[in-house]
Amino acid sequence: MIALVLPALSFADTLIHNVRGYTPTQSGIHSFTALVFNDEGKILATGTDELIGKYANARAIDAGGKFMLPGLTDAHAHLYNLGFLAGSLNLVGTPSLKAAIGKIERYADSNPRVPWILGRGWNQVLWAVKEFPRASDIDPVVDDRPVWLRRIDGHAGWANTKALAIAGIDDDTADPIGGRIIRDSNGKATGVLIDQAKGLIDMHVPVPGKDGIRDAYSRAIDSLVAQGMTGMHDAGINITEAEVLMSMADDNELDMRIYAMLSDAGKNLDAMGKPLKGYGNDRLDIRTVKLYSDGALGSRGAAMIEPYSDDPENRGLPFNTQDELNSFVQKANDMGFQVGIHAIGDLGNRMALDAFEKAQGGKRSPLRNRIEHAQIIALEDIPRFAELGVIAAMQPTHATSDMNMAEDRIGPERILGAYAWRRLLDSGAVVASGSDFPVEKSNPFLGLYAAVTRQDSAGMPEGGWYRDQALTRAEALRSFTLDAAYAAHQEDRLGSLEAGKWADFIIVDRDFFEIPAAQIDDIRVLQTWVGGQRVYDVSE
Ligand SMILES: [Zn+2]
Repeated sequence: MIALVLPALSFADTLIHNVRGYTPTQSGIHSFTALVFNDEGKILATGTDELIGKYANARAIDAGGKFMLPGLTDAHAHLYNLGFLAGSLNLVGTPSLKAAIGKIERYADSNPRVPWILGRGWNQVLWAVKEFPRASDIDPVVDDRPVWLRRIDGHAGWANTKALAIAGIDDDTADPIGGRIIRDSNGKATGVLIDQAKGLIDMHVPVPGKDGIRDAYSRAIDSLVAQGMTGMHDAGINITEAEVLMSMADDNELDMRIYAMLSDAGKNLDAMGKPLKGYGNDRLDIRTVKLYSDGALGSRGAAMIEPYSDDPENRGLPFNTQDELNSFVQKANDMGFQVGIHAIGDLGNRMALDAFEKAQGGKRSPLRNRIEHAQIIALEDIPRFAELGVIAAMQPTHATSDMNMAEDRIGPERILGAYAWRRLLDSGAVVASGSDFPVEKSNPFLGLYAAVTRQDSAGMPEGGWYRDQALTRAEALRSFTLDAAYAAHQEDRLGSLEAGKWADFIIVDRDFFEIPAAQIDDIRVLQTWVGGQRVYDVSE
């Protein structure tokens, strides 16, 4: 506030002008043409070009008439998985066995210190000879290190001879229950393992050490800031990962803000002991525990109150009894941790709400408990989010990826409470948006586009899927900024471009509020700034 009174005395302020800026605020969208921040990286003011005279000593940057938005936050995603996939061997779309072998050889050459060569995405159906590949195809290019490559659908893995040997798989190894070792006509294991048989090799793949985790985080963060993200909520880390994040914050290597949830409530929570708040200049918070109420909808693991419409004997299965869930929530809340419960089915969501209601004594809680996904909710349960102050952390692109499958699974009535962003907002609930990357693509503009259009990237279905549940552009932006910040207890310092908050913003190539909705997913990020420091520039 002192800087607001005495702006002209500071020589270390930065003024960005000739910009068309928008920010959500508690009273709606505010627009501006100039923004000033101080050398700490905190915003001093937004306004018109009159600020140029008022901050005459500031370093001035002409934004060339481009567009400014607050940095975007993905409120539910998986940082390590994104970084791991980006660093592993990608065989998606490889058109021939020969091309696949070429990629394996090049990856091995350029990653000489990687102890296991891991990859995914091969699909023999795309190849001229549509047969499973063999260990002996890989051996001529890599025989001194194990190679283990998952098929595109995840149900099969392809190993070289070294990996088979490490796992002790030979011609006499029996097929495990629920799995199969592919063999030739002589009974010899050829190198492809199906379903449960994959575990024979998976169990030997070393868990990543701290260096490997740090590399994956750095890779992921580099790609995220280039897409306009200045923060993300990591939906599940372990204690080793927490230590890596803390040391990265200590070393000034977190170029974006990470709000991480501890998975596996028992041991990670006990090891952590107490919540970590605002660590490293607000770069890192670990004050949440991630729990699971049920599984996924595609595999019918989501717990439903009534049976699946396309499988009348099956209601899915809750992961815990209600008593177990209640006691996990109670313990974490008692230790001062927010709880985020993964809940997909209407029973999964009801159990999560019941557990929160019990732990919170039927009232709202300052811990702001959350439901992750909140995908299918019984209509009568929707008002409970607002009543209990439970945040719905949702993923707009899940709706447009799942829409056809979801309607098969649950039918035309229950679908009204599915991906029901509008109903939740209208009930007074806070909706924070994300992508669940790498399950979905990480680009947050795909989420903004899906939230506004309820269409997939091809523009289907015409008019949008259950269009009445779409968000306005202002609501969509708010769910990726101010309400994501609220879900993280950070709305006093993040989520909007207002005096006193961190200067976390992006410069983009077109006007989010003025372009046709069909172009929202084409928006390109030109610059990303976190805490007043430029962490990405498209021209570099
Ligand atoms: Zn997730």
